[in-house]
Amino acid sequence: MEHYDVVVIGSGAGGGTMGAALAQRGMKVAILEASDHMPDSLAGRSEQDMILHKAAAPDPIHFNGEQVRPLLGALVGGSTGLYGAALLRPSPSDWDLEPFYGKYQAKELIQWPWPLEDLSAYLEKAEDLFRVAGHHHMTMPFLSSRQSPYTHQAMPLAPFNRDLMDKFNYQGLKPFHMPIAVDSNVCVRCAQCPGFVCPADARASSYNRAIQPQLKQGGLTLLPGHRVLKLDYRGRQITKVELIYKGRIRSIAADAFVLAAGAIYTPYILQSSQIPDPHDLVGRYYMFHLGVVCLSISREVYPGSSTFHKQIALSDFYQGFTDFKHKLGLVQNIPITGPRTIASKSPVPLPPFLSRWLYRHTMATAMVVEDLPVASNRVRWTKRGLDISHRFHPYDLYRGHEAGQRLKKLMKRVLPKSWHVVRMGALENAHLAHQVGTCRMGRDPRYSVVDPMGRHHQLDNLFIADGSVLPTSLGVGPALTIIANALRTADQLRKDA
Ligand SMILES: Cc1cc2nc3c(=O)[nH]c(=O)nc-3n(C[C@H](O)[C@H](O)[C@H](O)COP(=O)(O)OP(=O)(O)OC[C@H]3O[C@@H](n4cnc5c(N)ncnc54)[C@H](O)[C@@H]3O)c2cc1C
Ligand code: SF4
Repeated sequence: MEHYDVVVIGSGAGGGTMGAALAQRGMKVAILEASDHMPDSLAGRSEQDMILHKAAAPDPIHFNGEQVRPLLGALVGGSTGLYGAALLRPSPSDWDLEPFYGKYQAKELIQWPWPLEDLSAYLEKAEDLFRVAGHHHMTMPFLSSRQSPYTHQAMPLAPFNRDLMDKFNYQGLKPFHMPIAVDSNVCVRCAQCPGFVCPADARASSYNRAIQPQLKQGGLTLLPGHRVLKLDYRGRQITKVELIYKGRIRSIAADAFVLAAGAIYTPYILQSSQIPDPHDLVGRYYMFHLGVVCLSISREVYPGSSTFHKQIALSDFYQGFTDFKHKLGLVQNIPITGPRTIASKSPVPLPPFLSRWLYRHTMATAMVVEDLPVASNRVRWTKRGLDISHRFHPYDLYRGHEAGQRLKKLMKRVLPKSWHVVRMGALENAHLAHQVGTCRMGRDPRYSVVDPMGRHHQLDNLFIADGSVLPTSLGVGPALTIIANALRTADQLRKDA
């Protein structure tokens, strides 16, 4: 049987970063990835192929009883192969949640086991590794920011985004140029950026920024198409993984194992392997943000429908509004996925010309609303496959609804000639991309699956290094925090070896 120092399961934000970091420190590492490379990045340009058919999740998922195939990133690099690459640092208030949620949730469930400062150095390493481009002197209200300048300069704002920035400024807000891991020298400015494979290799993924360079350096083996079925254990040790490759079952042994299959598949693997779970925690507290979207439809063609446009963010409302002091999250401009997706999501049948028209005339502004960890929100392994039950906490819905109305009011002032409609995007089942929280990290095994360093409470040589360990969902996208935490867990594993 093949044997490695470390076997990492999953090549996404957490797994790809951690596998490469361990190999860089001299360990013999294999990354087992269920999916393959996209055969041809141009195939990833087709909305039909990408979003509607492949839907980029390895298998159908039952979400509240309905079969869905959410866009999760089933390719080498995981979700970082498709994501928006907006790599923002969290806010100190994401770590200090009692004043906001103390009334609604037990304090053990809204606590991080270490202070945000412990992550600072790793956040900077993660930004440098993924070549995040940004402006040093940007004011990002409520968010933590780096001490040193970004190593890469932000892509210049498209003219319509400069205009939008001015309009937000005129409203007395502090919009900023979003820190984003896109190489502006190589980017060909496509309109369909997040959700599609990058044709120019301009957008940073765990594959092109962490795995690929380390494959050249040595010590790392990437095994695409290797889908882990279960972990075998004896006493407090994982002994091997069982996987399927091209229809054949194989086993691989290692001294240590890192589970990084994402917050949906990691608990699934633990459950199907019957790993001890004495407090019935694995898969619980699933979070993915309540997304609130304001669609602004105008007679004029929106230039963002023909070029890269996810460039502007607002964090002014991160902790609410002056007369609505509730924790919310980041606002950013996001692309509309495409005419076919518009038609497929429309509550009424749309003729193709109308969905094409809407695509070219609609601008979307989205707010992330941090969602609370709730025990009954759960990923479960069942005989029919992967099953998710999820209901937002009433307090999430209350904040989301209010945030939507206020976002709409703001956009009416900013774009008075457009027609505005608000949707709570996350109520659509396919929006599961910011998946976190199903194998929480913490000191107390009664409330957490892994310890503060990412080590499983019941198994000494098993670490988890993906979004599942995040105890709360943050008011920004989770990718940078996941990458930074993976680097932190890699340091710990290396020290222990
Ligand atoms: C369209 C889209 C846009 C996004 N935009 C942003 C953004 O702008 N900013 C941000 O912060 N976040 C964004 N996100 C979210 C971000 O990409 C994820 O939070 C992050 O990548 C999650 O990292 P992870 O390591 O937990 O899982 P992933 O990156 O999803 O990696 C998990 C990997 O495990 C593999 N795997 C699963 N099961 C198995 C198995 N049995 N055996 C082997 N391998 C397995 C999967 O194929 C996958 O490659 C976006 C996500 C999507 C899909
Ligand atoms: S807009 Fe740039 S970063 Fe995005 S997919 Fe196109 S080339 Fe890649």
